[in-house]
Amino acid sequence: MRAEARIDLDAIRDNIAAIRARVGSAAVMSVVKSNAYGHGMVPSARAARAGGATWLGTAVVEEALALRAAGDTGRLLTWLWAPGDAFEDAVRADVDISVSGAWALREVVAAARAAERPARVHLKADTGLGRNGCTPADWPALVDAALKAQADGTVEVVGLWSHFACADEPGHPSVPAQLGEFVAMLAHAEGRGVTPEVRHMANSPATLLLPDTHFDLVRVGLAGYGLSPVPEVGGPADFGLRPAMTLAANLAGVKRVPAGHGVSYGHAWIAPAETNLALIPTGYADGIPRHASNVGPVLVAGRRRTIVGRVAMDQFVVDLGDDEASAGDEAILFGPGDRGEPTAEDWAAAIGTISYEIVTRIGARVPRIHTGTGAS
Ligand SMILES: *Cc1c(COP(=O)(O)O)cnc(C)c1O
Repeated sequence: MRAEARIDLDAIRDNIAAIRARVGSAAVMSVVKSNAYGHGMVPSARAARAGGATWLGTAVVEEALALRAAGDTGRLLTWLWAPGDAFEDAVRADVDISVSGAWALREVVAAARAAERPARVHLKADTGLGRNGCTPADWPALVDAALKAQADGTVEVVGLWSHFACADEPGHPSVPAQLGEFVAMLAHAEGRGVTPEVRHMANSPATLLLPDTHFDLVRVGLAGYGLSPVPEVGGPADFGLRPAMTLAANLAGVKRVPAGHGVSYGHAWIAPAETNLALIPTGYADGIPRHASNVGPVLVAGRRRTIVGRVAMDQFVVDLGDDEASAGDEAILFGPGDRGEPTAEDWAAAIGTISYEIVTRIGARVPRIHTGTGAS
């Protein structure tokens, strides 16, 4: 083993079950986009299903089709489309499709005709995120066009939905503003005759902190992988969650160097005294942020230590002082934290990002080793 990401599928299953228990009658969608935030999409999706996720969500259609190819037959929504995407494949594969505007509705209708079956669509409202979704001004026209397609038998409008900009900032005024806009856009669509099976808005932070936003379905990504979307409010354990990913590497060497010895490119660190240096065989090509140079935390030889010098493409160095270690000893970059190792949140804090980015960026060269529910 050079480096590996160990994924505890039981943790994913249990996190989804814990989220289910908090949201009452709302259903849970496990968001498995981007290789399940780096955790491995297919096994993570299976574990989430085992925990009670009746829906899965992906950003792009290729992800949804890969889940179908792997045998997933449950409800599945995909939301990020560009013209020319595989709408017809999605309809044939029984994937629910998000529609944010007129061009997407046209493509869905054409796909449904070609596939000779109606497409299930979720109309997406931009209630203030300013990204995807239909603005309030364009909503009446989109709703009417979708209802016409439904009357023609090409689509079934099964969902109405939106997405928050600032749900992770408790008290942010945009949260009630977006919620109010969503309620108004729902009322308009329902007044025109839409009878949605699911209305949904909540992401992980809203699911954990804002019960008023749960509606019929919550869409959880990060929380399902056991990380807190609101670290200033609480850590994973405060929400009954357990981090699923442990990133480990075996030392590729340990050596004694004299005072004044430089380390890695640019000599961004110079040994102040004679010391033992451990070489970790993983680098920015594996998703270790180069910004972690001189600041990233790692558990080596029983203690938390800090990266010294620059993170290179394939390797970085940790200073052990006078402590001993040997090539082949295990280093833990992050994990749940209960063995003294840093967490993904610690890495995020060290380099000024969010834990979402830390786990999602782990590269394809790092094998995912799955244990527990659904591991094959
Ligand atoms: C990624 C994503 C989610 C999940 O967000 P988390 O904060 O990870 O729970 C939910 N909805 C949409 C539209 C997304 O793109």
